[in-house]
Amino acid sequence: MSITRSTPLEKVIQKQLAGRLAEARDVHTVGDFLDFLPRRYIDANTAGRLAEFEVGETAVLVATVVQANGRAMRNRKGRMLEAVIEDADGAQARLVFFRAWGHEQKLIPGATALFRGKLEAYRGSFQLAHPEYTFVADDESASVYASGLIPTYLAVPKTTDLSITIAMQQVLGSWEGDDPVPAELVDRHGLPSLHEAYRLLHLPTSRADIGRGKRRLRYDEALVVQTALAARRAEQDAQHGTPRVAREGGLLSRFDERLPFQLTAGQVEVSEQIAADMARERPMHRLLQGEVGSGKTVVALRAMLATVDAGAQAALLAPTEVLAQQHERSIRRMLGDLAEGGMLGGDEHGTRVALLTGSMSKSARQAAMLGIVSGEVGIVIGTHALIQGMVDFYDLGLVVVDEQHRFGVEQRDALRSKAIHPPHVLVMTATPIPRTVAMTVFGDMDTSELRQLPSGRAPIVSHVVPAAKPGWLERTWSRIAEEVARGHQAYVVCPRIGGEDPDAFLDEYGIENPWADDDPEDDGKPVMASVLSTLDKLRAEPALAGLRVEMLHGRMSADNKDRVMGEFAAGEVHVLVSTTVIEVGVDVPNATMMVIMDADRFGISQLHQLRGRVGRGAGGGLCLLVTDTEKPETLQRLEAVAASNNGFELADLDLNLRKEGDVLGASQSGGRSGLRLLRITHPKDAELIQLARVDATELVGTDPTLRAHPALADLLAERLDDDQVAFLERG
Ligand code: ADP
Ligand code: MG
Repeated sequence: MSITRSTPLEKVIQKQLAGRLAEARDVHTVGDFLDFLPRRYIDANTAGRLAEFEVGETAVLVATVVQANGRAMRNRKGRMLEAVIEDADGAQARLVFFRAWGHEQKLIPGATALFRGKLEAYRGSFQLAHPEYTFVADDESASVYASGLIPTYLAVPKTTDLSITIAMQQVLGSWEGDDPVPAELVDRHGLPSLHEAYRLLHLPTSRADIGRGKRRLRYDEALVVQTALAARRAEQDAQHGTPRVAREGGLLSRFDERLPFQLTAGQVEVSEQIAADMARERPMHRLLQGEVGSGKTVVALRAMLATVDAGAQAALLAPTEVLAQQHERSIRRMLGDLAEGGMLGGDEHGTRVALLTGSMSKSARQAAMLGIVSGEVGIVIGTHALIQGMVDFYDLGLVVVDEQHRFGVEQRDALRSKAIHPPHVLVMTATPIPRTVAMTVFGDMDTSELRQLPSGRAPIVSHVVPAAKPGWLERTWSRIAEEVARGHQAYVVCPRIGGEDPDAFLDEYGIENPWADDDPEDDGKPVMASVLSTLDKLRAEPALAGLRVEMLHGRMSADNKDRVMGEFAAGEVHVLVSTTVIEVGVDVPNATMMVIMDADRFGISQLHQLRGRVGRGAGGGLCLLVTDTEKPETLQRLEAVAASNNGFELADLDLNLRKEGDVLGASQSGGRSGLRLLRITHPKDAELIQLARVDATELVGTDPTLRAHPALADLLAERLDDDQVAFLERG
């Protein structure tokens, strides 16, 4: 039997072990098993005795279990395990596991193992909490781990690392190593074969082996993504689009005439790029990056007006209903009577603007849809409802997507399918994206940037407020009162709504629960400021007596949200306590101050984005980052945000601190994007991404459907989901 990546694992290794791997780790095939990479490597060569390590250091010890007691815990569910180990000198250390499960069966008196963990002093004795360990002290392991580098895997019940390594040897011995990447590319970059790469990772003889093996797998990941993107680009290039060019003296020039300011040099340049794209017979796919307030919407609106000039329609998609309404209001305001085409008093060149959101009444929605299908409406603004519903356009020429990070490729595709000919697509994002990320996530688009803010805007001043220091929080509230006394308004942003699981917030941002492994004595969930509790607090706050304080959050009804937003926009509400629903696009120039509660719970880019809501007028803005953290690195991060108003600079800083998953957004991280090892923000991997991009373009250029490389096509199918590979079947 020839063994390939898709051969069921139980055909190759011991059935019982295969069953355990399947159950615990979802490992079913030879390929799954090969990809079940060691989590860490313990270096047995550096293993020693307790006396060699200091408290606080990571100790690697060879020791024997002399005592082990599992017991139920007093204050929480589950069992804990305490054990005592002894090294060759007779020196002892205590082991403690707060989750005894899986360890209790293995760490029995007499068992000798290699332990690795941070050495602590606890009640006069040495202690290792949750150490890693692997059983090695016998002849068999001595021969398997000849190099002394011991791979340790994620736990599989009733299974030792040694048995996994032995099974891996077996698999590597019988698997032929079907390598999906053309040998020519592997050679060109001096990469090991796939078979070799897995051997280096599972059975390393040195640290350098591990690096070499990883580099190969990272390249593969980059190549898969870049090949999919290259195919997408090739497909787009082959599409037929309709040129949409503004008319002389038409709607766009009428708009330009009445624009109350001059476009910045950046806006002019980007507008020209867009106009050139839209004049071509293939659809535009352009990503426009620029901070909040950099003037993207004006640029997009000009492209929309050019589209209407050309007799077609433009759609603007916003990620939330609030934002869609906001866009509608500001676009109507900018257009004035140009938005009243065909109506009494409207401009003769005018068009009509329609809003389309999920919460509109059925009749209002029908009226809007009628205008859209008949072509009377030139500009449509809406949310997802727009694309998911049964909306027909008369002739959709341009789609503008605001805030890309909430929109996936699928949604872009769904919209594209609404047009007879694929429309031009302009995606706007306020989150600056470094080049390699852009190349990976938006690799099928051209990019433009607005780096300069329109002049005449005073910068936002930010400060960190240590909530624990007496008087600081009170000062924050009276500062709000002062701002209101000057006729301005303020936001108070909280990380959660209240009344829900305080950790749910973490899921939303794809952050692993940092308290999960904390001191088990303290199982108190983190308490974060909530909208509900902060609202109560501020309404009772003497400094704010007489002010109108309202709240805005995602669990409110659409009507209530609208009402509050409307009242805030009208200046009737002085202080708006909200979640990050205001993050994108809410535009109330009179709001000049923002207080962000528990600011340490937000990412750098998000804080920057949030504070972009203030200082939209000429008066500048003030942002106070309230925190009770005492962690130096967290404070440093907040100070960095306070010190810089440069979104691109902050984005780079952010990337160094965040995990890939957060960068890519939940839907694009992890398995779905096929990125497991590749670190798209790491300089070394950025280089691999570049290589892979060139390789992929070349591959797809000569062989668009990868007919000559079926194994690579299979890998794409395996790694990417159906939508993403649909192009292969089509070709
Ligand atoms: P973005 O969409 O990038 O957040 P907007 O296009 O909404 O930015 O612009 C933010 C504000 O700045 C708006 O009130 C807009 O009218 C104004 N603005 C845009 N471009 C200019 C400019 N060139 N000069 C002065 N003000 C501008
Ligand atoms: Mg905007």
